[in-house]
Amino acid sequence: MGLVRKIIPQSTVDGPGNRVAIFLQGCNIRCAYCHNPETQAMHDDEAREMSVGELIAEVRKGIPFVRGITVSGGECMLQADFLTRLFAAVRDLSRETGHPLTCLIDSNGTIPFADYPQLMALCDGVMLDVKAWDTAVYHRLTKAPDNETVKENLRWLLSHDKLTEVRIVCLPETASVTTDVENNLRHIAEILDSIGKKVPVRLLRFRPYGVVGELADTPMTSEQQMSDYASLAQSLGL
Ligand code: SF4
Repeated sequence: MGLVRKIIPQSTVDGPGNRVAIFLQGCNIRCAYCHNPETQAMHDDEAREMSVGELIAEVRKGIPFVRGITVSGGECMLQADFLTRLFAAVRDLSRETGHPLTCLIDSNGTIPFADYPQLMALCDGVMLDVKAWDTAVYHRLTKAPDNETVKENLRWLLSHDKLTEVRIVCLPETASVTTDVENNLRHIAEILDSIGKKVPVRLLRFRPYGVVGELADTPMTSEQQMSDYASLAQSLGL
């Protein structure tokens, strides 16, 4: 059984095309900008235990209007064994219906993908949230001790052609916490360059909706700031 918080039957913002987005319960870090804080607790009365079969029944309803599924969280890699069985069942569903469905993971990258070869063989790609590059900045943002595994995952996914997209949340410069977007972009560009791969980098505009804690009253990042970050990313070849 997997612990599921929410299912969006058709989402256009959780990966390429129209997808079934499945949000699992539980997260291992605490991002200051989290807009799904209700998914952080490892157990919650609002979350529901669901079998692979029950989830497949939900995915089946979306055919032929969805291109696949994206599993997010919380941190869905905390339920990696369940993900493996779910992705295998989605493959079976594709074969049975003749409708091709892809399986994507949306992850904070704190759990090594290399440790799950069976899952990664079934997974079409990962959207990796590289929250901040500098360890101290990352710690301030997430409360996690360091981000070495996130960086290792970035390299591993790139070299195994499993990185669908890099995601970076951009906070306003006036916020009490930073994601140091410029530094993050420069390092990501260096790594992509050194491995010789091109992967989309999505800059996500901070919005305070759903956010609790110290950033709850922080305004949305300005359009000008986002445009400046986009220009910087482009100038770095991203
Ligand atoms: S990794 Fe995602 S779900 Fe977990 S705290 Fe951060 S933003 Fe929230």
